Amino acid sequence: MSNTIPSRSPWIEQLRSSDAPRPLTHDVTTDVTIVGAGIAGVSTAFFVLRDTDQRVLLIERDRVGHGATGHNAGQLATYFERPLAELVEEYGFDRAMAGQAAIDNTWDLLDIMIAESGATARIDRFIGHMGMFALNHLQVHLLHSQLRRQGGLRVSACVVSEQAPFLDDLPEEFDGLYTVVPQSRVRELLRTSDDRYVAVMSDQKGCGNSALLVEQVLDHLVTTFGERFQFVDNTAVKHISLDRSTATISAGDHCVIASRVVMCTNGFVDHVVENLAGDEIGASLNHRVAGTVGYMAGFVQDNVLEANAFSYIRNAEIGGDIPYVYVTSRPFDRASGRATLTCIGGPENILEDRADYFPNDDFPTRVIDEIDNEILPIVQPSRAAGLKYDYAWHGLMGYTDARVRLIGFEPRNPVLMYNLGCNGVGFMPSIYGGRRISQLLSGDPLGPSIFDPT
Ligand SMILES: Cc1cc2nc3c(=O)[nH]c(=O)nc-3n(C[C@H](O)[C@H](O)[C@H](O)COP(=O)(O)OP(=O)(O)OC[C@H]3O[C@@H](n4cnc5c(N)ncnc54)[C@H](O)[C@@H]3O)c2cc1C
Repeated sequence: MSNTIPSRSPWIEQLRSSDAPRPLTHDVTTDVTIVGAGIAGVSTAFFVLRDTDQRVLLIERDRVGHGATGHNAGQLATYFERPLAELVEEYGFDRAMAGQAAIDNTWDLLDIMIAESGATARIDRFIGHMGMFALNHLQVHLLHSQLRRQGGLRVSACVVSEQAPFLDDLPEEFDGLYTVVPQSRVRELLRTSDDRYVAVMSDQKGCGNSALLVEQVLDHLVTTFGERFQFVDNTAVKHISLDRSTATISAGDHCVIASRVVMCTNGFVDHVVENLAGDEIGASLNHRVAGTVGYMAGFVQDNVLEANAFSYIRNAEIGGDIPYVYVTSRPFDRASGRATLTCIGGPENILEDRADYFPNDDFPTRVIDEIDNEILPIVQPSRAAGLKYDYAWHGLMGYTDARVRLIGFEPRNPVLMYNLGCNGVGFMPSIYGGRRISQLLSGDPLGPSIFDPT
């Protein structure tokens, strides 16, 4: 029997397949060149076109939305994959809180993008739940709530089971940040029968097909800003040469001259950057983004259920190496009508060398076995192992050193800018990054932030 099955993403399947490729056919001079047409590149184009009068060229190596944007779990979440207390320690309270507030407020930016583009891609919003079983996890998340409260930010609801073995060990300083409930409430919130889980944090979440959203926003940009916007695909950026005021970009077989170039490549660059106006930049960014392959499997049921999202911590200690698992169920439109798609993610593979990742590789059946045997009993106890999945797909995640998205000017030459670094939760931060890039290009006095490339 084969050890792999074809990789198939439900998000890509909802995109138009009929569009002919539109590669770059001539040399171009423009104001802003954006490299990469995923959620980061398209959001950046949206806000730059909307909020400035600059001309924009968006260049994609493959097709729109076919990178991580078409291979994710599609959850809308606004947390960092790093405890907020660590960000406070590294950047100071005010700067960490300002960063968190900016990502929280991205719900409004998403609303603007949907309303003004007329995008019809389904976005569901709801309260999602995260399950924990260890005291150290709960304490980290309660500290998170405490910091958020001090910073005037929304605080997640938290319940702890009256059966939690550590109930009496919870420090008094967290009083008022959680309520004690019967274990049956924990089971109900997490939809699990696994009674190891004894605490739940609940917060604003959502889900959507980011690839379809990006395809529709791009259509709007082409229609609305036709005179100062051009999109090309099937065109790889190979070389970027920077002087004091311009970038000379080799893209496909042509040359692009731009005043700024914004990298929205998810961090995985196979182009060369040459800085003629300062210290070498070269491939340094390349080496600062570590790669992980994330695996997802999904199944479709005919009955239509309300959208929801759950995650379940699996490490006994914070920072351990068992990835948490995440599940969404959501209404899903297919040719034969509306159904429910349930997606399960969590298994990961750390890439030693990013050149080892091939987006079109098949999906390993050992990951299906891992999902069936180790994850299903927690997240879908009523589903039997061994049933066929309708979809199984993988995508590339880029982690920056600080696990915070890089948004802004390259310090060694501000002609080059970044909006990249998925860091596990990249959907909302990519949109915020697009807005921040447009503000920086407008000269808004934003001040230092946790997102500044260093
Ligand atoms: C399995 C998985 C699950 C995830 N789940 C979630 C989730 O639930 N919630 C969440 O918020 N985030 C999630 N993420 C992360 C999220 O999907 C990403 O952060 C986000 O989609 C990244 O968008 P992007 O535009 O930065 O990158 P991409 O979508 O990867 O786009 C980058 C684009 O740049 C193009 N490109 C690269 N180099 C060049 C070049 N030299 N020339 C031209 N074009 C180039 C690529 O072809 C690509 O299309 C997940 C990711 C994965 C892989």
